[in-house]
Amino acid sequence: MKHSVETLIPVLGDQLTPDIASLKGANPETSVVLMMEVDEEATYVRHHKAKIAFILSAMRHHADRLRGLGWTVDYVRLDDADNAGSFTGEVARAVERHAPATICVTEPGEWRVRAAIDGWADKFDCLVEIVEDDRFVCSHASFDAWATDRKQLRMEYFYREMRRKTGLLMAGDKPEGGQWNYDAENRKPAQNDLLMPRPIAFRSDDITREVIALVADRFADHPGSLDQFEFAVTHEEAMRAQRHFLKSALPDFGTYQDAMLTGEPYLWHAVLSPYINAGLLDPIDLCRKVEAEYRAGRVPLNSAEGFIRQIIGWREYVRGIYWREGPDYAQRNFLNAKRDLPAFYWTGQTDMHCLSQAIGQTLDRAYAHHIQRLMITGNFALLIGADPHQVHLWYLEVYADAYEWVELPNTLGMSQFADGGLLGSKPYASSGAYIDRMSDYCRSCRYDVKQRVGPDACPFNALYWDFLARNRGKLGDNPRLSMPYRNWDRMEADTQNALIKQARGFLQSLD
Ligand SMILES: Cc1cc2nc3c(=O)[nH]c(=O)nc-3n(C[C@H](O)[C@H](O)[C@H](O)COP(=O)(O)OP(=O)(O)OC[C@H]3O[C@@H](n4cnc5c(N)ncnc54)[C@H](O)[C@@H]3O)c2cc1C
Ligand code: SF4
Repeated sequence: MKHSVETLIPVLGDQLTPDIASLKGANPETSVVLMMEVDEEATYVRHHKAKIAFILSAMRHHADRLRGLGWTVDYVRLDDADNAGSFTGEVARAVERHAPATICVTEPGEWRVRAAIDGWADKFDCLVEIVEDDRFVCSHASFDAWATDRKQLRMEYFYREMRRKTGLLMAGDKPEGGQWNYDAENRKPAQNDLLMPRPIAFRSDDITREVIALVADRFADHPGSLDQFEFAVTHEEAMRAQRHFLKSALPDFGTYQDAMLTGEPYLWHAVLSPYINAGLLDPIDLCRKVEAEYRAGRVPLNSAEGFIRQIIGWREYVRGIYWREGPDYAQRNFLNAKRDLPAFYWTGQTDMHCLSQAIGQTLDRAYAHHIQRLMITGNFALLIGADPHQVHLWYLEVYADAYEWVELPNTLGMSQFADGGLLGSKPYASSGAYIDRMSDYCRSCRYDVKQRVGPDACPFNALYWDFLARNRGKLGDNPRLSMPYRNWDRMEADTQNALIKQARGFLQSLD
C-alpha cells in the first residue's frame, strides 16, 4: 500500500495541548492531526449541554492553535454530512483519506475508549501505536509499583511519595513547615462576603456561539442550561483564569475549602478542573506556581499545601486506582444499594434547600465544588441507598470536568463506598448537623435541622441513623465508625424505632 502520510495522530477532546505525548516526537511535515466531534462521545451518557459546548468549542480553538503551530489538522465536525458518529468510524474514514503508515494516539482516559482503540490494529492496514499520557506525575507502572503488596492504598502515603518525587513544598527531605498535611486548618465555615473572589466570566466568541447553537439544537433533551456559559475555551483564557485564581482566591482556598453558602457556587475554589482535565492547563506547572505564591509570602502554607494535595495527591491517586482496578470497578456495589436516583437530581426541585442549591447550580453551570459533591448530593445518595452505578452516571453527565478516570473513583469509591473501602477508610455519611456547621443552607430550609423525627425534621438526620443500622453487617466492624455505632447503641429502643420509621417513611415518599 502506498502511504500518503507518515503518521495520523488522532487528538481526543481531553488532549488539548500541543505537548500531548503523541505529538511530541512527530514531524508536522509528514503527519496529519485528526480531531473528531462524534455523536457517540456526546451521547453515551446524556452530558450536560454546557459540558458538550465547552469541549467542542475548546476543540475547535485548539485545532486553530495547532494549525498556527504548523500542524495539518483534519477536523471532523459534528454536523458534517458524512460524520460516522464514532471514533473508530471516523478513524476508518481518515485512513481512507490519508493512507497513513502509522496511527499514533495518546492513551484515552476511559476503559470504553481504550477498548475501541485496542481494536484498531486489527481493523486498519497500518501500525497502531498507543503512547502513555505523560501529563501526570505518576505513570501506571509507578502506581502499580507503589500499590503492589500494600494492604491498604491510602491517599496520604501516596501523596507523600508525590511530594518527594516532585520536590513540591519540600524542605530538603522534610515537608515544608514540618507537617505533610494541614487539613485540620481547612474546615472553617464562611460568611457572606461582598469581596469574595469570583471566577472570570469569559465572553463567547463566534466559535463558541456557533457551538452553543449546535448543542442547543442537537442535544435539547440533555440536562443543564447553556444560558450561563462562561467557561474559558482557549489556552490563553484558561491561563487568565489560572492567574486570577492565584491572585484572588488561593490565599483563602484552604481556610474555606469545605464551606458552602447559598447562592455562591464557587467561594474560594479554583474552578480550573475543566481546563486541567481537557489539557488547556498543565497541573504540575500550576502546582509550581502555587508553591511560588507561598514562597513569595503571598499565600499561607495551609492553602498552598491543601491545593497541591488535591492535584498531586487526590487527582493522581484516583487515576491510579481507576486504571489499576480495571473496567469492572464501575460495577462494584459493596452496600448492595438499589434505589433509583430521585428525579429531582435532574431538576433541582426539592424543598431540601441544600440539595436544591447544589443541584440547581450544577444544572445552571455544570459545576459544584468538592464538598457539595461529596457531602450534599453524594451523601444524600449514599444515605438513601441509591444504586452507585446510577450515581456514577449522574456525576459523569452533569459536570464539565467529568471524565471517567477521575469521576468514577471519586463517586463510586470515595462518595458511595461501593468499593468497600478500597479508596476511603469510611463512608462519607453525615446527618444534617455537618451541613448546618459548614453552610448557611439550613437557615432557609423548610426543614428543621435540629429535629430528628416529625414532619419538619431534616431528612438527613433519620436517614443517617437508618443508613448505619441498615448496613451494620457490612460497616459495624469499621473502626472509624465505632463512635456513631456506640451512640446508636446507647439510644433507647423507642428512639431507634422512631428514627427508622421516620427514615423509611421518607424513603417511601421518594418512591
Ligand atoms: C462524587 C464526586 C465526583 C467528582 N467528580 C469529579 C470529576 O468528574 N472530575 C474532576 O476533575 N473532579 C471530580 N471530583 C473532585 C472535585 O470535586 C473536583 O475536582 C473539584 O470540585 C473541581 O473544582 P475546582 O477546580 O474548583 O476545584 P478546587 O477545589 O479548587 O481544587 C483544585 C483542583 O484539585 C483537583 N481536585 C480536587 N479534588 C480532587 C479529587 N477528589 N479528585 C481529583 N482531582 C481533585 C482538581 O483538579 C481541582 O481543579 C469529584 C468529587 C466527588 C466527591
Ligand atoms: S435542614 Fe436538612 S435538608 Fe434542610 S438544608 Fe439543612 S441539611 Fe439540608
